[in-house]
Amino acid sequence: MKFYNSLTRKKEEFKSIVTGKVGLYTCGPTVYDFAHIGNFRAYIFEDILRRTLEYAGYEVTQVMNLTDVDDKTIRGAMKNNVSLSEYTRKYKDSFFADLKTLGIEPAEHYPAATEHIPEMIALIERLFERGLAYKSDDGSVYFSVAKFQEYGKLAHLDLEGMRSGVRISNDEYDKDAVGDFAVWKAWDEDDGDVWWDSPWGRGRPGWHIECSAMSMKYLGESFDIHTGGIDNMFPHHENEIAQAEGATGKPFVHTWLHCAHLRVNGEKMSKSLGNFYTLRDLKEKGCDGREIRYVLLAGQYRQPLNFTFEAIAAAHSALSRVDEFVRLASERAGDAKPVGDSPAWVVEPLDAFGAALSDDLNTPLALAALYTLIGNGNKAETSGTLDSYAAAHALRALERMDGVLNVVFRAEVAIPAEVETLAAQRAEARKAKQWADSDRLRDEISNLGWTVKDTPEGQRLSPK
Ligand code: AMP
Ligand code: ZN
Repeated sequence: MKFYNSLTRKKEEFKSIVTGKVGLYTCGPTVYDFAHIGNFRAYIFEDILRRTLEYAGYEVTQVMNLTDVDDKTIRGAMKNNVSLSEYTRKYKDSFFADLKTLGIEPAEHYPAATEHIPEMIALIERLFERGLAYKSDDGSVYFSVAKFQEYGKLAHLDLEGMRSGVRISNDEYDKDAVGDFAVWKAWDEDDGDVWWDSPWGRGRPGWHIECSAMSMKYLGESFDIHTGGIDNMFPHHENEIAQAEGATGKPFVHTWLHCAHLRVNGEKMSKSLGNFYTLRDLKEKGCDGREIRYVLLAGQYRQPLNFTFEAIAAAHSALSRVDEFVRLASERAGDAKPVGDSPAWVVEPLDAFGAALSDDLNTPLALAALYTLIGNGNKAETSGTLDSYAAAHALRALERMDGVLNVVFRAEVAIPAEVETLAAQRAEARKAKQWADSDRLRDEISNLGWTVKDTPEGQRLSPK
């Protein structure tokens, strides 16, 4: 399996530290607002990564942090006159609901920053012991970038330029032009009642220290993979490396993966530009989670992806083709089990699928393999060779693929009682050859969001 490692700027053969296991840290949301689908591009890329590792047989331990204290969350809580935890609760809950809508497999740990302050303080103390941190007059603590020789190795910064005092970071906690960044921020009145005691006085942690402390707590001082969107690479991930390696003297992370941005009309989708959609926005416009997931995974993660409603429409029709074949194969398979060897027309696309994902998560090629399998299956049907065993093999291959893609089989939706009743009336009308009634009932069913199709086995209902 090969991944493009941002640290070395090379595609490398992946080797885990412990055979058969992978520790994966994925930077999570700041819970001050609803996440936008640009954020979800990152979380879906990480989901594909996680599921690909599992497909290859690894046991994955994934950690995703929740940033529930920073300037934005504190400002939001104050403005709404509620406690910080009350304010962030709503966005944490909606984040987890959104993960479900998008079929994202849950991580093993979702540590919240506010629940790991002692770990962060302990890490800052280690930085003091190693002479890498200093306290400023206002009680904040800064990391001394000039004292960490390897600073800049991830983002490939020009260290000489940096040391001579060029501003290299615009993180909101930064103190001054030399690029030193805050690991602990002293309390001021804008923080209201949000503060923790520390050896340096009242305050709160910087954003970067949170990820160094929580990743090492759950995954150890050296672990396999760390990911995020490309904007996280600098300064956030660079600073995480400085803090972790500065404190432990050990390599922090072996492989760094960063996804390119989701764009709207050529620009990064972001809250500051105001050009973003939340999942709620899209659902109101009639998009469903499966289609959005499809659009977000259809591009290779290192390529920028442009979000359009045409792409959602294309996903809708692509998935209808998939649904058609799943229905056909299920009918043909009946109760048959996939015994014996798979037909070559099933094996080849499944192999291509695995190979595509093993090559730095090439999802466009993996989807092409899915369509090859479906095309082969449809050809077998036309030539009369899609017997129950072949169909059962095809279905098993689709299940394997769906372990990673999670868009092939649509979640079973219960048929509402109202729709069932109308369908029963329609069946009666058809029996009595009352075609006008039958058409009217079809329209009523359609208005409720369901399609009815007449097949030799009777009516078939499916959500639109
Ligand atoms: P934030 O809440 O801004 O820290 O972002 C959470 C995650 O979403 C990070 O991994 C970001 O890099 C990622 N992200 C933010 N905007 C985008 C975007 N437009 N496209 C892809 N990833 C993004
Ligand atoms: Zn992070």
